[in-house]
Amino acid sequence: MLTNRKEYDIIVAGGGISGVAIAYGLIRKNSRLKIAVIDAPTEVNRASRTNVGLVWCQSKFLDKPHYAKWGFISRRLFPELIQELTEVSGIKVPAYFEGGLIPVLSEAEYNQKGDYIEKLRAALGEYRGNMIDRAELERKLPKIPFGPEVCGAAWCEEDGFLNPLALLRAYRVALMNSGVDFLNDTVVYSVEPKNNAYSVHTQIGELSCERLVLACGLANKRLAQFAVNDLPIFADKGQVLLTERMPFVMPIPVLGCTQTVAGTVIIGFKHETRGHDATVIPHSVAQEGAWALRVWPELGKKRIIRTWPGLRVMPNDKVAIYSHLPGHENVTLINTHSAVTMAAAHTRLVAGFVLGEEAHECAKDMTLKRFGFAV
Ligand SMILES: Cc1cc2nc3c(=O)[nH]c(=O)nc-3n(C[C@H](O)[C@H](O)[C@H](O)COP(=O)(O)OP(=O)(O)OC[C@H]3O[C@@H](n4cnc5c(N)ncnc54)[C@H](O)[C@@H]3O)c2cc1C
Repeated sequence: MLTNRKEYDIIVAGGGISGVAIAYGLIRKNSRLKIAVIDAPTEVNRASRTNVGLVWCQSKFLDKPHYAKWGFISRRLFPELIQELTEVSGIKVPAYFEGGLIPVLSEAEYNQKGDYIEKLRAALGEYRGNMIDRAELERKLPKIPFGPEVCGAAWCEEDGFLNPLALLRAYRVALMNSGVDFLNDTVVYSVEPKNNAYSVHTQIGELSCERLVLACGLANKRLAQFAVNDLPIFADKGQVLLTERMPFVMPIPVLGCTQTVAGTVIIGFKHETRGHDATVIPHSVAQEGAWALRVWPELGKKRIIRTWPGLRVMPNDKVAIYSHLPGHENVTLINTHSAVTMAAAHTRLVAGFVLGEEAHECAKDMTLKRFGFAV
C-alpha cells in the first residue's frame, strides 16, 4: 500500500503472524490510532509462511505452567476471533477445534506420556485430555489405517488446527479494511530514538512513531540493538515434507503428520539448532518421514511434492517474550516460537500491553526482566 504519511501513533515492524495479530488488536482497541505495519519477506524470517497451522496446547511446558496456561487461554479465544476476522476481511479461515492427537508407538511411550499428562493436570488444576488406547484412537479417526505399532495416543480436546496462510491473509486484509497502512515489501533497516519518539529507517525513507512494536522474528535481535545488545533469542530450525493430496480424513490433527484442509499431509516436527542455515537437510527430514510411515503406512504410497525448512524464533528459555525495552517503555518486543497458537492471545490480551496497560496475569513474567534486563 502506498502512503504519504510519515508520522504514526504506532509502527509495527514485521508483518508476520505476530505483527499482524498485535496490530489488529491495537486497531480494535482504538480505531482512531494511526498505525503502520511494515513488512518485507526475508529468507530467514519466513516462519509465518512455513508453519503447520496447529493450535497446540497439550503435553507441553510442565516446567512452565503459566506458559502452558497461556496457550489454553489463547486457544479458547480463537473461534470468536476467527469469526470476527472473516467478517471484517471477507476471507474464510478454515479452522478445526476438535482436539489433537499424538500417536505413541510403544507401551513405554504410552506410560511416559500418560505420566506427563497427569503431572500437567496437577500443575494446571484442569486439563481436558488423557491417554487413549488404539481402539479409541480408531474411533476418533476411523478413516486412517494406523500402523501395527501404534498402541494409542495422547489426546486433548482443546487442540486444533487452521490454515495459517489464510489466517495471515485475513489479518492483513482486516487491518487494511480497518484503516491501517500496510507497507508491504518494505525493509526496516534500523530504529533510532529521537525527541521522545522513534525514527524508523526504511527502504522508503524515514518514518516516525510514538510507540513501536518490534515483531520482526529473528531480525528483532538486530533492530533492538539500540536498547538491548544481545537479545536472548536463537533460530530453531524445522523442516517438513509435504505429500500429494488425498481425500480429507483427519478432522482431528495428528502431531507430526498433519493433514491440511487441502488434503496434503505435512510431515515433521523437528527442532534443530543450525544457526541461520535455512537449507533442506535430506537425511534429517527423512527421519521424520520414517516415523510418519510407522504411524500411517499408507503415506508410503503417496508422492512427496515439496519439502521446506523454516526457522522458528526461539527465546533462550523457550517462553515467549512480551516486553518493553530497557529505558524505552514505548517500545514493545514480541518473540514467541508458537505464534500461530498464541495469535488470539496476542490480539486480545497483548495489544493493551503495547499501549501501556498492565500485562495479563499469565504474561507478566514474560518480560526481559527474567534475563536480567531492567524493564
Ligand atoms: C516448520 C515449522 C512449523 C511450525 N508449526 C507451528 C504450528 O503448527 N503452530 C504454531 O503455533 N507455530 C508453529 N511454528 C512457529 C511459528 O511459525 C512462529 O512462532 C511464527 O511464525 C513467529 O511469527 P513472527 O511473526 O513472530 O515471526 P516471523 O514468522 O519470523 O515473521 C517475521 C516477519 O517480519 C518480517 N521482517 C523481518 N525482518 C524485517 C525487516 N528488517 N523489515 C521488514 N520486515 C521484516 C518478515 O518478513 C516476517 O513477515 C512453526 C515453525 C516452523 C519453522
